[in-house]
Amino acid sequence: MKHELPELSYAYDGLEPYYEERTLRLHHTAHHKSYVDGLNNAATKIKEARGQGDFSLVKHWERELAFHGSGHILHSIFWTNMMPEGGGTASGAVARRIEADFGSFVDFKGQFSAAAVAVEGSGWVLLCWNPLFSKLEVLMAEKHQNLTQWGVTPLLVIDLWEHAYYLQYQNKRASFIDAWWNLVNWNDVNTRFTG
Ligand code: MN
Repeated sequence: MKHELPELSYAYDGLEPYYEERTLRLHHTAHHKSYVDGLNNAATKIKEARGQGDFSLVKHWERELAFHGSGHILHSIFWTNMMPEGGGTASGAVARRIEADFGSFVDFKGQFSAAAVAVEGSGWVLLCWNPLFSKLEVLMAEKHQNLTQWGVTPLLVIDLWEHAYYLQYQNKRASFIDAWWNLVNWNDVNTRFTG
């Protein structure tokens, strides 16, 4: 399944004057489109690598998958986060959570805006729901890829810090990984999988 550039629910001039048509059109049709194309290309290359059993470029393509995948996801959210005649204060359940977790809408907005000013490089700032903490958080992503894709649900993870294996396996990380495969609880993995 190829990823596709999502259509906007408003016209390119629909966010004027706050977001001009020229900028929105270029951002959507060129910048976001390049993330979609890059994500599809990375997925194709990684599939080819699996087919050929040649993972010599796996680090490159995993980076491309994270960079373009996160770019595609974040832009898709960004577009739907905006609408003509939007703005004002938060409403509904989010408003109640914001008051509970930030004290007030004004305090939340102050933190979010300050983070948006302060974030370095090609960054993003996000209001996130952390279901593990049952808490809203404002987070900065200085590099959106950071080798992840926002919103994924972890199904199976392995700790590769040296503290996880060094006493037993020293520098032989591959031996640890080979051994670890014998420990995987696939029932747990399946429980986490909702796809
Ligand atoms: Mn962008």
